[in-house]
Amino acid sequence: KDKLRDDALLKKSFSLSKRNWGNEDFAWSARLAKALKDVFEIEKLRELQLPTMNAIMSKEDVILIMPTGGGKSLCYQLPAVISEGVTVVVSPLISLMEDQLHGLRKLDIKANMLCAKADKESVKTIMTALVDKSSPLKLIYVTPEYMAKSNRFMSKLQKAYELGHLERFAIDEVHCCSQWGHDFRPDYKFLGVLKSMFPGIPILGLTATAPAKIIVDVQKMLDISGCLVLRASFNRPNLYYEVRRKPADKEACLAMIENLLKNRFSGKSGIIYTTTIKDAEQLTTDLRDRGIKVGCYHAMLEANYRSEVYSKWMSGKYQAVVATIAFGLGIDKPDVRFVIHHCVSKSMENFYQESGRAGRDGKKSVCLVLYRLADVFKLSTMVFQDKVGLQNLYKVVAYCLDQTSCRRSLIATHFEENWKGDDCAEMCDHCRKPNVRKQMDIVRYCRHVYQIMTKAVQNQVRLTALKLIDAWYGKGASSLRVSNVPVPNFARETAEAIVGHLLINGYLQEDFHFSAYSTISYLKRGPKSGLVLSNDHKILFNYELC
Ligand code: ADP
Ligand code: MG
Ligand code: ZN
Repeated sequence: KDKLRDDALLKKSFSLSKRNWGNEDFAWSARLAKALKDVFEIEKLRELQLPTMNAIMSKEDVILIMPTGGGKSLCYQLPAVISEGVTVVVSPLISLMEDQLHGLRKLDIKANMLCAKADKESVKTIMTALVDKSSPLKLIYVTPEYMAKSNRFMSKLQKAYELGHLERFAIDEVHCCSQWGHDFRPDYKFLGVLKSMFPGIPILGLTATAPAKIIVDVQKMLDISGCLVLRASFNRPNLYYEVRRKPADKEACLAMIENLLKNRFSGKSGIIYTTTIKDAEQLTTDLRDRGIKVGCYHAMLEANYRSEVYSKWMSGKYQAVVATIAFGLGIDKPDVRFVIHHCVSKSMENFYQESGRAGRDGKKSVCLVLYRLADVFKLSTMVFQDKVGLQNLYKVVAYCLDQTSCRRSLIATHFEENWKGDDCAEMCDHCRKPNVRKQMDIVRYCRHVYQIMTKAVQNQVRLTALKLIDAWYGKGASSLRVSNVPVPNFARETAEAIVGHLLINGYLQEDFHFSAYSTISYLKRGPKSGLVLSNDHKILFNYELC
């Protein structure tokens, strides 16, 4: 029975995807084109915007997957403007909603929002407008918590539905429905009732998160399995992707960044992302000491101060903003020429989004990651409690450790797209300067590492990655050294790369312990350690020993 249902769903989604949603002969096509020019003052639609709008206007459920900045909002805002009734937009963040309302009001489009902090008077006005067919209100933004908690709102919605005044639901950041997503929000679960509560009202889900597994999960959650799924390409041809090893020595690392900002990126505008507030502040100070004009931005700074930093950066008084990922929402600077990750991102989605703030104007821009194994543990101790936190982080590590593949193709694989090799056109470090693919078997190093670990267990010592590598090189406590494990004849960087490779491939695993002030990541044998017992087991690694 399940199979029959799955087949039917597959057939449905296939036939939906075959319809020509990009046509301009729908009943609303002329109105749509006119509102685009007159109300939004936009000349041309972007990829997939028209198909999405036509499908949702045809009352189909749609999931639109499009990179951040691609223009997803227009896909429900424009239909809202040319429809009689109300479009309800579910959005996870109040700041996102305020941003959108601000933009809509400038265009003279009637929109409003409901959230826990809305005042009584405006709540009342909105509730009344919802069931008033003559009201000019076109869009209501609401948080999922508010929907889940407010019976009053849900009953008004039902009333609006009975009056034929409810047009559609748009659910922004719809991946928040899925437990597999990097951003699961329990309150999104409530949205599962919409389909049965409001039969015939189309749902448009929007996200920049692409993996099929997540999309299928989202469809199930919303009870819209088999709906039309539209996927825009994630390729950003004008972005140059590069990874560099981050010097372990702080001064050397600063010198590297100083050199980049004063030479390669001289006179250009950019963002430098750090992980913690402390790092952002420290790096700002250090760069200022070197005569570079940078501002600092993170969530603990006052709103006024933050907007001052933002405007100094916009006007070019600051060459770069040194920021935590709090710097992101609502950034609208077209000529960001570089994004430097001073520390790796916690997922490929995050990396894509953060680095994607470069080159919005379509001109060549650089996305540079400074990679170091030690930074991985800084993040892992922050994300390990999420269900898929480590898995997501390790994918970024794999991206950084790769020494031969096209960076663009690695990103494509992550987003389940298939780009041809020449889609890169030498716009990544590896395509510009190809490395010979040198595969080596590192199983013997894995055994060495295990021997050191056994010794540590005997001594009742836990090993961080740092201590483990020290012991391997015969440094640190002598009790941890193993006499028949040879000191590596390669650079410490290579040893770090090997440990990184063993970790992300399950030969090692992190073991988290809480101390009074922090969480510490120790390493232990991973789930695949049993394989290493066999004599002919190989662990292949594309890496050049140096
Ligand atoms: P997303 O939600 O996909 O991240 P937004 O909807 O916030 O993206 O849109 C990003 C920017 O692109 C906005 O400033 C928006 O006005 C602009 N935009 C959207 N569609 C178009 C278009 N067809 N032409 C020009 N600008 C557009
Ligand atoms: Mg958006
Ligand atoms: Zn490439």
